[in-house]
Parts: sequence; structure tokens; C-alpha cells
Amino acid sequence: TPHTLLAQQDISAHLHPFTNLAAHADVGPLVITRGDGIHVIDEQGRRYIEGMSGLWCSSLGFSHPRLVAAGIEALQTLPYYHTFNHRSNPPVAQLAEKLLALAPVPMGRVFFANSGSEANDSAVKMVWYYHNAIGKPGKKKILARHKAYHGVTVAAASLSGLPTNHRDFDLPIDRISHVDCPHHYRFGLPSESEEDFATRLADALEQRILAEGPDTVAAFFAEPVMGAGGVIVPPATYFAKIQAVLRKYEVLLVADEVICGFGRTGAMFGSTTFGMQPDILTCAKALSSGYVPISAVMVSPAVHAAIAANSGKIGTFGHGYTYSGHPVACTIALETLRVYEDEHILEHVQALAPGFQARLRALGQRASVGEARGVGLIGALELVADKASRQSFAPELKAGPRLAQLAQEEGLIVRAMGDTVALCPPLIISEAELGELFARLERAFGRFEATLG
Ligand code: PLP
Repeated sequence: TPHTLLAQQDISAHLHPFTNLAAHADVGPLVITRGDGIHVIDEQGRRYIEGMSGLWCSSLGFSHPRLVAAGIEALQTLPYYHTFNHRSNPPVAQLAEKLLALAPVPMGRVFFANSGSEANDSAVKMVWYYHNAIGKPGKKKILARHKAYHGVTVAAASLSGLPTNHRDFDLPIDRISHVDCPHHYRFGLPSESEEDFATRLADALEQRILAEGPDTVAAFFAEPVMGAGGVIVPPATYFAKIQAVLRKYEVLLVADEVICGFGRTGAMFGSTTFGMQPDILTCAKALSSGYVPISAVMVSPAVHAAIAANSGKIGTFGHGYTYSGHPVACTIALETLRVYEDEHILEHVQALAPGFQARLRALGQRASVGEARGVGLIGALELVADKASRQSFAPELKAGPRLAQLAQEEGLIVRAMGDTVALCPPLIISEAELGELFARLERAFGRFEATLG
């Protein structure tokens, strides 16, 4: 079918992120024009269940009246002001206080940015600033994990552990390197228990810190559940073991809660679900249900005290964005957090999660699925050519994208990351809508497996 006028405009003018640019003119854009609850609607009026909340963010769906009303009022009241040099505004102060009250561990202060990448870049700079401030300027190296996703700015892309984030960009930068990914299904040894796997990874981390030199290692970044790397849920004891090593060598733990934050795992933060006690926590996405760009970095009282004291010496904390603490974004974020409470979203997720995970695992019985995994309302299905040997499909088959395309034809948007297909529906999804989501996914699987012959 020929492209619509809008599609043609897009093709000739818009350089897309994370897209095969060479193929864009042929494939054409899927132009989404409207949102309604858990649905998005395209130019032709086709409705899709957004099984990924966009990019893991639209937790309250696409038409929440309270967020819209809050945004309109904020635009009419104070459409912009900054927060440099002691300036503030009502929503930023209230939002900061609210985030400290929700934090999974006692936190000292909250810094605001506009995206997950910026939050993580800010966290990297704060880590360096902190170690300089406490007289440990040798601590510069940062460890993250293979298959991590922390964003795309230079430091955040370096923290990420996926080839697409590094290849052809001359990344990672020298100070950032990677350790093992805690995916038992793929990296556990034959007959190794999850517990033993976690022990082995913690031992390997300790050996790595010793090899690098403990006086040179500044921080360890980790998502509670690795999202874009394939929804990888760590072994239950993984973070306890990792943290024991980090504490021994005075390495800060930075929890990237950009996906897990605000109820996704069944607790307010993934750190609570997985027993993490971060020194620094970054969040974004569901902080505003994706309605406006905003992210936050929470720092522990100790980190705050050290960087505040140092800024007193040199006269300023030399970091911040034009839009740090943007009043419209902060108003919508604050309203989002209030809606989570007023609509009992956490309890709703806890009620729905067992059914969601059970349905996911039922799909995991299919011949083409090697592993079904997840926690709370996030999950993934890893497609395999052979279930017993866990043999992957040939890359040229593009099994994951094919399944995602078939799901789209069935009216369901899911995300293929290689041959892992992720689900991360809006947290407001109802039991009936969940049933419909899985019915569409089942139909897509039926068609997918039929094409395998
Ligand atoms: N961290 C995690 C865990 C993410 O999933 C993402 C985005 O998907 C980011 C950071 C980067 O966020 P942004 O795209 O807002 O820069």
C-alpha cells in the first residue's frame, strides 16, 4: 500500500532513533495519532493494546484525565522556570519531598533531569564528585553489566552493555566496563543452582574489583530487572551477595529504576523486590507515566552531605539542566504519584501479577519458547528453535521481530529485543484486558509457529 501523506513527511524529514534508517522508506512509520486507556490508535483508526506501555513508561495508560488536567493547570500557572542558584517552584519542592517519602531506602535529596539517560549521566558525575569530595580521587572506574541498558548519552551508553549501544560509536569510554549478566537460563552452568550461580557472579565481581584495584573502583550500576537486555530477573540472592562485595571495597551501588520504579515489580521500587540498598537511585518513565519528560536522581544522606560540603568550598555544584525541576513536568509527576496512591495501583499490580505471570508461563510451554520470565507486570518470552537444547533461531529468521509483527496484526504491541519478546502493559490494565492481551498473543504465536513449518 502507498504511504499516507503523514508517512511521506516522516520518511523525508524525520531521522528516527533506534530504527533501521536504510529500511525506513520501505517499511514506513506506524503513525499513532491517539491514545485511549491501554490502547493506542493509528492513522487508519486501528486500535492496539499497548502491551509495552510505549517504551516501558505509560503506566497509567494514554488518557488519564487527572494527568491531563494537572498539565493544563500547570501550563496556565507557570509554564517554565529554572532551579539554578537557589530558585525553586511549588511542584518541584513538593515532588522532591514526595519522592523522598517513597524511596526504598532513606535518601537525602533528589536531583531532577529529563530522561533516564540524563539521570544516569548525572549519577556518574555525582559518583565521581562524591569520591573526589571524600578524598578518594583515585576511585574513577564504574562497573555495569553485560546486557544492561542505561541510556544513550555518552556515559549512559557506556554503562549499557548491548552491542548496539557501543558499536560504531567508539564506546564504552575508558572508565566504564562490564561484568557478568545474571541470567541463569543463558549463563548458568549445567546443573548449577540459581544460588550457586549468584555466588559465582559475586565471586567474579570481587576478583574483578581486586584486579582493577579497589582504590580505583567507584560504583556499580544495576537495573533491578534488566529491561532492554531481555527482561532478565536476577536470582533471588544475587543482589545480597553483590552488595556484600561492594560494601567491602567501598563501591557505591547505583540502582537504575528507570523501568522498575513505581510499581512495575509489585513494590514501589524494584530495589525493594530484590533487596537492594542503593546509595544512588535513578528513575524516569513511570515517574510521569511517560506524559512529560522527567527523571530523578535520589542520593543517600552520606552522598548528599559530601557533595554539598564540597560545593560549599568551590561555591557551586556545577551540574544541572535548563529543565531540571521543570514546573509542568513536576506537576504531572506529582499528580502521577498521587494517582498511584488514590487508585491503589500497587495493590492492583499485586492482585494482577500472579495471573499475568501464570499466563506468561503457560505460553512458556509452547515449543517455540525457551524461557518465560518476569515479575510483577513485566515479563518476556525467549524464543528458541529447540526447547531442549535451548538453541536459538538463526538470526536471519528474525523470529522475535516476526512474532512482534504478527502480534501487531492481531492488535497487540509487544517489543522484540532480538528473539526475546517483552510485555510491560500499563499498570491500570484490567483483568479482562489482560485476558484479551494474552488471547491476541496466543493467536500471534499460532501463526508464528505455523510459519516455522
Ligand atoms: N535506564 C533504563 C533501565 C532504561 O530502560 C532506559 C530506557 O529505556 C534508560 C535508562 C534511558 O532512558 P531514556 O531513554 O529516557 O534516556
